[in-house]
Amino acid sequence: MRVDVFTLFPQAVDGFCQVSLLGRARRGGQLDLRVRDLRAGSSDPHRSVDDAPFGGGPGMVLMPEPVFRAVEQVEQNEGLPRPLLLLSPAGRRLDQGVVRELVASGSGFSLLCGRYEGVDQRVADHLVDGELSIGDVVLAGGEAAALVVLEATARLLPGVLGNAESAADESFSDGLLEYPHYTRPAEFRGWKVPEVLLSGDHGRVARWRRAQGLRRTLERRPDLIEARGGLRPDEVQLLADHGYDT
Ligand code: SAM
Repeated sequence: MRVDVFTLFPQAVDGFCQVSLLGRARRGGQLDLRVRDLRAGSSDPHRSVDDAPFGGGPGMVLMPEPVFRAVEQVEQNEGLPRPLLLLSPAGRRLDQGVVRELVASGSGFSLLCGRYEGVDQRVADHLVDGELSIGDVVLAGGEAAALVVLEATARLLPGVLGNAESAADESFSDGLLEYPHYTRPAEFRGWKVPEVLLSGDHGRVARWRRAQGLRRTLERRPDLIEARGGLRPDEVQLLADHGYDT
């Protein structure tokens, strides 16, 4: 999957993406990440990219010309994976469904990181294909948001995670939060691991995990249960079998 990231801070994106999962995905060839300096689109000797907002007000705004030029240069020379998405608090909210969509397209995508007060609206209106938000928070720039998108998508690419099962079974994979995990020791400071996990009975373990995932989701994210149309009768029964009233 090819991903192009346009940013004023290429080192910030590139540095993070050299280690751990993203670094492995790049070295393994599953992720073709191309980090682009937005200043490459600047035509003045100071390489400036921002200016004061028309109408007054605090802060600076990324000018359209350098942003258009930086993107169009790449598009002409190497082609650009689309959709090109502007990272913005006003964008479509990222969730695991959006992440899966980005990966499923197969052809990759591009991310544009804003800074300062944001980018000139003409970039949003005429250059990008959409806007993406990582949640109802305001970051100083789009770089951290781009890294969130990169990490969430790269880990779904075949061969990137060590264990192919891990992405299939985790939170949001079927509209539920994941069950809790435990590892050695079986008892730590008097807190014991649930007995069922030491039983060696895979069927019992699977049912317990399913019940825990359902219970957690009911307690913490009832909106997710609602979004999947409530609990099925077998799920109500499973919860009852594990001592939880619904
Ligand atoms: N003035 C803007 C507003 O109130 O919506 C905030 C601009 S923010 C300080 C600068 C840049 O950070 C944005 O252009 C965007 O690229 C990025 N950014 C901030 N919060 C974000 C979020 N929740 N999701 C994605 N990108 C975000």
